[in-house]
Amino acid sequence: MAQYQILVKGYARLQYREFVASPTTVLIQEGGYNILADPGCNENRLLDALAEVNLKVTDVDMIYLTHTHLDHLLNLRLFPPLPVYEGNLRFYGDSMVPHGGFITGTSIQIIPTPGHTLEHTSLIFESAGKKVCMAGDLFWWEDKKTVSPDRDTLLGLPDPLQTVDAEALLESRQTILATCDIIIPGHGEVICLP
Ligand SMILES: [Zn+2]
Ligand SMILES: [Zn+2]
Repeated sequence: MAQYQILVKGYARLQYREFVASPTTVLIQEGGYNILADPGCNENRLLDALAEVNLKVTDVDMIYLTHTHLDHLLNLRLFPPLPVYEGNLRFYGDSMVPHGGFITGTSIQIIPTPGHTLEHTSLIFESAGKKVCMAGDLFWWEDKKTVSPDRDTLLGLPDPLQTVDAEALLESRQTILATCDIIIPGHGEVICLP
C-alpha cells in the first residue's frame, strides 16, 4: 500500500493579463521509493515543500508526469538524471522502454486517461484503504471556482483551457469516477467522493 501527501496544491488563475498556474504535486511512497508526481513549474514552492518533508532533490527516485504541458514539468530541470514516467514509456537519459502500466517496484498503476491531451495518463493506488487517483488535468478548475464532489458535476466540468478529445475526456472521467474514492485534480482541491 502506498502513502501519499500533497506537496504543492495546484492553482490556476488569471492575474492581470497573465494566466498563472502550477499543478498539484504529490509525493507517493511505496516499496522504499520516493515518487514525485507532476513536479510543476513553481520552483520555490516545490523546493520548500520538499525541505518540509526532509527530502532533497537527490532523494527523489522517480518522477511521474500526467502529461506534457510545460506547467506540469518545467521543474524537471531541478533534478539529477532519474527515471521519468510519461505516456506509456519510462524514460531514463536517452533510453525509453514501455512501463507496462506500473511504476517499477510498486503496485502503483498508470492508466491511459486521454481527453485533455491524447497522451494523458493517471496514477491509481491504494492508500489507507482508499483508492486514490492522481488525475492531473483530467479534472481541473480555476481558483475562483468551487466544485461539489458529486459525480455529475465532475463529469460535466468544463476544461477551461482546451480539450483535445471531448468524447475521450468523458470516457476517461467515467472510468475514474467508477473506480476511485479520492481524486487529486491537476489544479484545485482534492475531492473525496461520497
Ligand atoms: Zn494540462
Ligand atoms: Zn495543468
